[in-house]
Amino acid sequence: MSDRWIRYCLIDSYVKEELVRYYICNLFRELNIHRLSSKCVDIEFVDEIDDQSQGEAIGDKDDVSIKIARNSCGASMSFLNQMQTLAHEMVHTKQFLRGELGYDSKGNFKWKKEVMEGKKYTEQPWELEATSLERSLFLKCFPFDEEKTELL
Ligand SMILES: [Zn+2]
Repeated sequence: MSDRWIRYCLIDSYVKEELVRYYICNLFRELNIHRLSSKCVDIEFVDEIDDQSQGEAIGDKDDVSIKIARNSCGASMSFLNQMQTLAHEMVHTKQFLRGELGYDSKGNFKWKKEVMEGKKYTEQPWELEATSLERSLFLKCFPFDEEKTELL
């Protein structure tokens, strides 16, 4: 695991950066994308995202940029909530880096070589995968044993 993976990681001062980095490394390993050392993943924690979503991942086979929101729809997201969102966005990262998810020349989503037009959010196969994996990934990869008392 090289630091190239995480070019930018800015988090609230009360959160231990080391803990988040450790978690991110666990997620990469669990999703089996830790050996793709030529790729870049940016992770940024922001006050909010324009469309009020809790997280977003935008990318292609080489670069992925993740944003995690501290606030969404007027409510502040708990630290552990942000960590589960990170697991969700990391599934999209795997999809981009593996070439499963991408875009065609018109900007439509492509999923496993098939152009997906007009699919509702809840029917998009990449969202179904991310949603079904986020909780178990979070529970498996987050280092709950470390610094337990500070998180609660
Ligand atoms: Zn998603």
